[in-house]
Amino acid sequence: MSKNYVTGFPRIGEQRELKRVLEEFWAKKCSFEDVKQNASELKRRHWEYQRDAGVEFISSNDFSLYDNMLDTSVMLGAIPKRFRHLKDEELYFAMARGNASCVAMEMTKWFNTNYHYIVPELSLDDEYSLNASKIIDEYHEAKALGIKTKINIIGPVTYLGLSKRVDRGDVYEFWGKIVPLYEELLKVISTLDDEVVVQIDEPIFAKELDTKVLSLIKPTYDRLCKVSSNIKIAVVTYFEHSNEATKILVHTPIWAIGLDFVHGDENLKSLDIIALSGKELIAGVVDGRNIWRCDIEKTTQLLESISNFVSKERILISSSCSLLHVPFALKYEQKMDKEIKEWLSFALEKLDELSLLSKIFFDGEGSLNEAQKEALSSNIKANQNRKISPLIHNKTVQARVKKHTKLQREGDAKERLKLQREVLGYSDLVTTTIGSFPQTPQLRKARSDFKAALISKESYEAQIKKYIDECVAFQEECGLDILVHGEPERNDMVEYFGEQLSGYGFSENGWVQSYGSRCVKPPFIYGDISRPRPMTVGWITYAQSRTERIMKGMLTGPVTMLNWSFVRDDMPRGEVSKQIAVALSDEIDDLQNAGIKIIQVDEAAFKEGYPLRGGKIKAYEAWATRDFKIAVSSAKEETQIHTHMCYSEFNDIINTIEDMDADVISIETARSGNELLKIFKKVGYTKEVGPGVYDIHSPRIPSVEEIVKQIELLLEVLPKEQLWINPDCGLKTRKWEEVKPALTNMVEAVRIVKGRL
Ligand code: GLN
Ligand code: ZN
Repeated sequence: MSKNYVTGFPRIGEQRELKRVLEEFWAKKCSFEDVKQNASELKRRHWEYQRDAGVEFISSNDFSLYDNMLDTSVMLGAIPKRFRHLKDEELYFAMARGNASCVAMEMTKWFNTNYHYIVPELSLDDEYSLNASKIIDEYHEAKALGIKTKINIIGPVTYLGLSKRVDRGDVYEFWGKIVPLYEELLKVISTLDDEVVVQIDEPIFAKELDTKVLSLIKPTYDRLCKVSSNIKIAVVTYFEHSNEATKILVHTPIWAIGLDFVHGDENLKSLDIIALSGKELIAGVVDGRNIWRCDIEKTTQLLESISNFVSKERILISSSCSLLHVPFALKYEQKMDKEIKEWLSFALEKLDELSLLSKIFFDGEGSLNEAQKEALSSNIKANQNRKISPLIHNKTVQARVKKHTKLQREGDAKERLKLQREVLGYSDLVTTTIGSFPQTPQLRKARSDFKAALISKESYEAQIKKYIDECVAFQEECGLDILVHGEPERNDMVEYFGEQLSGYGFSENGWVQSYGSRCVKPPFIYGDISRPRPMTVGWITYAQSRTERIMKGMLTGPVTMLNWSFVRDDMPRGEVSKQIAVALSDEIDDLQNAGIKIIQVDEAAFKEGYPLRGGKIKAYEAWATRDFKIAVSSAKEETQIHTHMCYSEFNDIINTIEDMDADVISIETARSGNELLKIFKKVGYTKEVGPGVYDIHSPRIPSVEEIVKQIELLLEVLPKEQLWINPDCGLKTRKWEEVKPALTNMVEAVRIVKGRL
């Protein structure tokens, strides 16, 4: 028996083929026919990979040329007015990316992953209607290859919950408009075959829902199930438990419920009611969002314990969520340490894990053939090795972290700031930037040439030094107060540190889709983390030696290091982050001993790590702030600690931000005037704040007047003594031609405002 189930499959292609062809198409270097052809080839390959691995439930409509939420908007005809004059692919990509006359739709993170979806824009003025062609075509496409797929769609409750209203009002008012379209869709689907399985993704059920939303679940699924008796509906949830929704779903006529047992242990509590309901259980037991090899023995035990409630015949063995969130295949990792590679599993390897698990679970270990026996024993060996390998477990690090009992820096923030102002001698409305300056093609080439040993260390370092010299000279010339070195030596703010910390690993081809054609290659934390040697001191002190002004040191904080990496699953996240924090505290001490007076510890991804469930937030905030404070605990009172966060909404987390005890925080408020800054005033925030005065995410150069206006708006909220003036994020993605005038205007604006005060 092989009842294994894959929630969804990566689509970007094992060599990022989809990325390549899309970008060529956007650059007008190929036709849309080429895109479609390429996409068909990828779909075929992905279906065949799954079929060959013995997956019984393979999806169609998990593919997308950009994003599945966007596809759902197109399916429902939820096309914002400004795009209505467009058609087909022009319409589709304009919604995703904007065009000369229409701004793109907003994009935001898919739950607590690093995948971004296109946010639907709903308005009562709009009429919606069904367009099922993509779904139908993809089903036929697979069928023509001899593969009968289940059809994936995003559920109405999740779709609405993730939408925004452009005419204000509540998104769920659209329930009555949307559900009939889903009914219509199912009617069309019912004509496709004698029997069709439809997977309806409702990840929003993994969040705490208010009673109004919960009350929609039963009528939605009662109605959808009524459409046709030849459709079997599986409602699939992931990323957390969904016990509240499960309680309701068991009383609807759906065929199956999908639960994530990797990221939602609490789902175990729903087993008895699922058993009673007689529904199938899609048991998500193979981690779809992390890269560790599944522990087959442990997972078999988990499945056995599940089958104490739900009988075996009713269980389907599944990935915990779509495999979209993991890299494609380990076969491309040629340079990776062999021992470490043994511990990993990417999407293709996960298919084999599912197949092995189902063989053992349904037919017993005795039924394994030679190859399967071999696979099992290799799995057992790898997992045993992970428990004891000295690559992972470093006694010295563990002892060092245990011994680190200094949990925060000395002094009260108010007094610290007074002292710092004396030492640093800056005045009100002090100007600075967030750290990075433009990453030029020459820089990128120098870095990659150096990595490939095409140029010598001396030649590489000379190029970096030249960049720093020019960067410093520009900042002095334009009159910035606190300087930065520009981060020319960093490819990525996490990777740069990861490469220098023991316990961090890297892949060659471990790409994961982030949005559209954009992929990221997150590093992974496999073992205890330590810092063999200083990581930034050389470059920062070099930069400081080039100027009389104060040079700000630049580090990435522990929480961001974690949230942008794959993290080991054999240790609580808070413990891993503490190890990074201790390593960073050593770095900060080295920096200040080398004469650096201001150090910024970026926590760009602090907010991303928030758990989906309110009940778990306290614990996250506790370790996340603890570890930020441990990281900066070595800073002397006169050393000023900055942090930067790529957010503007602080209303929910302001107390936590205060708790982090950074002397200065820079944030992303540029696009919201002074509205979002008000919370800082409201809570009586006493430390200093640098609300971005212009948006760096666009090539537009802000005028002096515009920045003056923005600063004046800020001054309505916070006094000049408390305000820093800076752009709203790092300048790495901008060009020098944009950065130079923009910063010159910013400094000029400050001069004007100061004159008026
Ligand atoms: N210091 C980093 C930079 O300027 C911060 C980037 C970020 O917040 N994403 O690039
Ligand atoms: Zn930022």
